[in-house]
Amino acid sequence: MAKYKLEYLWLDGYQPVRNIRGKTQIKEFASFPKLEELPDWGFDGSSTRQAPGGSSDCVLKPVAVYPDSTRKNGALVMCEVYNADGTPHDSNDRATILDDSDTWFGFEQEYFLYQDGRPLGFPEHGYPSPQGPYYTGVGYNNVGDIARQIVEEHLDICLDAGINHEGINAEVAKGQWEFQIFGKGSKKAADEIWVARYILERLCEKYCVQVEYHCKPLGPTDWNGSGMHCNFSTKYMREVGGEPYFLALMAQFEKNCAEHIAVYGPDNHMRLTGLHETQSIDQFSWGIADRGASIRVPHSFKKNGWKGYLEDRRPNSQGNPYQIASRVLKTISEVPKP
Ligand code: ADP
Ligand code: MN
Ligand code: MN
Ligand code: MN
Ligand code: MN
Repeated sequence: MAKYKLEYLWLDGYQPVRNIRGKTQIKEFASFPKLEELPDWGFDGSSTRQAPGGSSDCVLKPVAVYPDSTRKNGALVMCEVYNADGTPHDSNDRATILDDSDTWFGFEQEYFLYQDGRPLGFPEHGYPSPQGPYYTGVGYNNVGDIARQIVEEHLDICLDAGINHEGINAEVAKGQWEFQIFGKGSKKAADEIWVARYILERLCEKYCVQVEYHCKPLGPTDWNGSGMHCNFSTKYMREVGGEPYFLALMAQFEKNCAEHIAVYGPDNHMRLTGLHETQSIDQFSWGIADRGASIRVPHSFKKNGWKGYLEDRRPNSQGNPYQIASRVLKTISEVPKP
């Protein structure tokens, strides 16, 4: 038997941006605990905007468990929040995802690393040389010193945890980075985005670096904002597809444009301006290989008979992947299959 440090993680009641919270409990297991072996737990919801002070107990139900290679006998336990009566808590966006079997989701999380109130590599006053060399760049002038160290360490901790990273890259703005996570099942992909966000923030503590997830931290300048493109496919899109179904799907996305934008992250009007590889926030468009469209259709999608996956480019870096996936799946469910 060994004593395991179980870090129970959950999303709080803050809006429009939920924070990930965590606390540790120690339990003995013969080997690394399986999900079924992990007990429900509770927390004080009055401190997280999830309950009034008089009746403050909220329930944590484990939904996924990951090894934590940074901690001896450590585990990260992603949880959903429930009320004492067994119903999902209002803040539990994961519970709004209905049927996600046979859907595949890939999220591209962009973010900035900040120190002393500015992106890593920015001078104390003014700006570094304009965008151009930073995207996928190399060299001290382009990526600075500790950024790559953080990004590489983050990748290793995530891979040790079994998180399904598909890649990482330096992004267009200085101090801006991206990781991509793919999952069969939207809940799996979204859980892993939240746990990867948590790991990144915790790792950055020791570097005195803050992760800036805001979608346009440098305001209305020529510096790129941060997105969280949502790549998605259902079994039907991958295996049957066809142009009529695709067009019906796009018509439904257009009809629900405002409903999608409502859950695609705060301050998105600052980012979706029609510039910097975005479509305007109030317009919907799709286009083949078009990075200025709301939805980019990969070349392969058309070539394969309108089959495969699509990229919704509108969700931003502070978006909640549970809400995003939930909305995408709802819109898909509204389209009849021919
Ligand atoms: P880009 O930066 O050109 O938009 P990335 O390589 O960063 O492309 O991201 C593409 C994403 O698409 C990856 O996260 C990948 O997991 C996802 N993806 C690939 N195939 C599928 C699929 N069939 N269904 C859902 N997502 C997919
Ligand atoms: Mn206490
Ligand atoms: Mn990408
Ligand atoms: Mn990107
Ligand atoms: Mn993309």
